[in-house]
Amino acid sequence: MDTFEQMIERGHERVCIHQDRQTGLRAIVAIHSTVLGNALGGTRRWHYATEADGLYDVLRLSEAMTYKAAAADLPMGGGKSVILLPRAGHPATEAEARAMGRFIDTFNGAYIAAEDVGTDTRFLDWMAAESKHVSGSVAASTGGDPSAHTARGTINAMRAALSHLGLSQEFHRLTIAIQGVGHVGFHLARMLVEQGATLIVADIAPERLRRAVNDLGATPVSPEEILSVKCDILAPCALGGVIDANLARKLRCRIVAGAANNVLDDPDEDAAVLRRLGILYAPDFVVNAGGLIHLAGLYLGMSEDELQQKIAEIEHTTAQILREAESMSSTHAAAIALAGCRIACHCKEQVHAG
Ligand code: NAD
Repeated sequence: MDTFEQMIERGHERVCIHQDRQTGLRAIVAIHSTVLGNALGGTRRWHYATEADGLYDVLRLSEAMTYKAAAADLPMGGGKSVILLPRAGHPATEAEARAMGRFIDTFNGAYIAAEDVGTDTRFLDWMAAESKHVSGSVAASTGGDPSAHTARGTINAMRAALSHLGLSQEFHRLTIAIQGVGHVGFHLARMLVEQGATLIVADIAPERLRRAVNDLGATPVSPEEILSVKCDILAPCALGGVIDANLARKLRCRIVAGAANNVLDDPDEDAAVLRRLGILYAPDFVVNAGGLIHLAGLYLGMSEDELQQKIAEIEHTTAQILREAESMSSTHAAAIALAGCRIACHCKEQVHAG
């Protein structure tokens, strides 16, 4: 499918491809929607097998940001950016980050960049030296690393899922498997251990796996095993597309609730398969909204109390979606319906106001 066809199918407003001759930066910014407000979403640094894979990733990720903001009832749009690395592990430099910052600046705030896989606060600080439209850096703008807020929201969504199944919310009775103990996954693991949960973890980065095992007493398994270990809740916190219809049949959990974006390979189909298998899927863009709420809230001038309240509301929103999903094809469909409804209501209000 060519770029325009993909944009039309997903409803994107704008996709911009950029190269910087001096640094060799190759990047794409995708703005899915600015209907509710300016588009906020992370910058991912990743080595994709093909350019088409990078485009596909940024289109899916930016679309999900629109739904995430709408489901969290934030007046923000959806966007995302990817830096296409020439090879895996390509070192992050200040020159590359600043080149990316200059690219971000050309959107005049219609797209606001933040952290994602492969970027950290230092990288965002460098980007922010070139543009004020960078959120989540430490020195040059506000927000810091949003991962702990994402992890907190994920636990709120887990509570809703447990209640929905009539299960106890006492985490010390639960075994939780976490795929990827990076920024969010490690915070999530730490918070769950504080509540007494038993953890099983995997990571392709040996030092990250060691940290979770040594610091938190988690049980390590291989990346190949983690998705099918026996547990109460499976929390994918690495990359997207990890569960498809085949993999779904190998799961041995009651609930899937993780922070990764685009957990399901084909959300419509895979969410329906999970339902048929009796596995409760808490929709990713609702579960992992804590970081967005934190950064968007600061951008929108919310107080600390309002931010805390909004992250706490993830439990209520997840519970509402799980209930409404009972009469729909899947929990994913119910989450999309809620987000779509909020966007449509906003458009209607605009027409009346006009
Ligand atoms: P990160 O890069 O810090 O962590 C990801 C971890 O997953 C890394 O440690 C990596 O080694 C590991 N990993 C990658 N592939 C793996 C595999 N096959 N098996 C096991 N481990 C694997 O990224 P992050 O910021 O923690 O984000 C994790 C996920 O959550 C991403 O999908 C991201 O888009 C999503 N997310 C993050 C935030 C946030 O606040 N950082 C917010 C919303 C969503």
